[in-house]
Amino acid sequence: MADTLFAKIASGEIPADILYEDEDLVAFRDISPQAPTHILVIPRKPIPTLNDAGPEDAELLGKLLLAAAKVAEQAGIAEVGYRTVINCNAAAGQTVFHLHLHVLGGRPMQWPPG
Ligand code: C5P
Repeated sequence: MADTLFAKIASGEIPADILYEDEDLVAFRDISPQAPTHILVIPRKPIPTLNDAGPEDAELLGKLLLAAAKVAEQAGIAEVGYRTVINCNAAAGQTVFHLHLHVLGGRPMQWPPG
């Protein structure tokens, strides 16, 4: 399978404003922010959608959530509040088919989301 855009960001082939990375995950600022703070957290493993994650990915998914909380803290939005989103498939708005968690904050959030 050809590398996804996000796999290329994770490998450094495509530049991004990276805020956190470790052996499993990379967090970087969204290029088209939908809130004053908009960060994406991705696994280095190219899982296309949440539907494609399996039991073998349980630890990785846990790390993804913990990294989201960590980058929210570092970005200064943890205390006031933030939203995490995973869009799964096109009808939900997914445009990049490499699993990613949006971390959005810095403005009031509406519910239900659009
Ligand atoms: O959930 P969805 O697949 O729509 O999210 C993809 C996100 O990736 C978008 O918010 C888009 O702005 C972001 N993006 C990015 N850098 C790119 C291409 C897309 O941050 N080079």
